[in-house]
Amino acid sequence: MIRICVKVKSQPQPIEFTMNLTQITTTGMLAVLCSTGFAQTNELNIYSARHYPTDEALYGNFTKATGIKINRVDADDAGIIARLKAEGAASPADVILLVDASRLWRGEAEGLFKPISSKLLNDAIPEQFRANTDSAGQTPWYGFSTRARVIVYNKTSVKSQDVDTYEELADPKNKGKLCIRSGSHPYNLSLFGAVMEHLGEKQTEQWLKGMVSNMARSPKGGDTDQIKGVASGECGVAVTNSYYLARLMRSTNPEDKAVVEKVGVVFPNQSSWGTHVNIAGGAVAKHAPNTANAIKFLEYLASPSAQNHFADGNNEWPAARGVHINNPALQAMTGGNFKSETVHVSVVGMNQVKVQQLLDRVGFK
Ligand code: FE
Repeated sequence: MIRICVKVKSQPQPIEFTMNLTQITTTGMLAVLCSTGFAQTNELNIYSARHYPTDEALYGNFTKATGIKINRVDADDAGIIARLKAEGAASPADVILLVDASRLWRGEAEGLFKPISSKLLNDAIPEQFRANTDSAGQTPWYGFSTRARVIVYNKTSVKSQDVDTYEELADPKNKGKLCIRSGSHPYNLSLFGAVMEHLGEKQTEQWLKGMVSNMARSPKGGDTDQIKGVASGECGVAVTNSYYLARLMRSTNPEDKAVVEKVGVVFPNQSSWGTHVNIAGGAVAKHAPNTANAIKFLEYLASPSAQNHFADGNNEWPAARGVHINNPALQAMTGGNFKSETVHVSVVGMNQVKVQQLLDRVGFK
């Protein structure tokens, strides 16, 4: 079988189809195969680690606007990377969506992405939130939304000024109070990788050790579980991605409202290097059968309407320049603005191996 790609004047995308060499014999056969090929190019296969039900509208709007049908495979970051490796050149994946900087970095490092050249994306997404451009002037992946890793505390038992830096999570004054999900979870690996850029390896190890001795319980559950632990009083302080808290703040469920009542939030390190910000992002798969559609989809994600969706639907911040959002929970949480750190997301990814070694050394589960 061979794969043939033909650019037809009336179509925006090259038409792509596969056939046996022996089949290229008559014009009639070619016409049949061309129509089959067209159906194929009007599809897009997405492997997504975005686990947010509100994203359905994001995909639906793309199909409505372009006529391109989306087929989606949902898994977590690690599962997607493993699947791409197992499938190799036979993978049907066109677009890969991951929810963490260090995983995007890993996907790039393992050669799973097809670097692309898009002026639209380069203009829209600041350099801090995308992979470094390679020697051929192409970029392996882009961030499309950002999320802050914030600190929540129990308003009755903890003072905000005692937990307004990441460093204080390890301070003996917070002994027995800290709740946090597994240190090896990508959200924490990225946070710790960023902290290592600021504190250096030795001090980071001390910091991780201090957090272990401050824990109220062994790491378990996701970020929302940590927030609920703070509300119940089992924990005094916890670490969470900002959108999990915003989701509870916007919930109409009385139980969620009661949780929100009890917790305060701080954006750490406002008077030093700023709050750690992670990204969710996307790339074109190395062996994408529908590359043109994949690029079109990534460009769509940088559009103001899709960027607004990230803000309104999943309470993230847009990564694209100049997009204004109107999200009451994010507004209430930040007072409008906050200082975020500026460590490049690729550096955060590169530090993760070292961070995992430190975690093992200090017994951070
Ligand atoms: Fe998440």
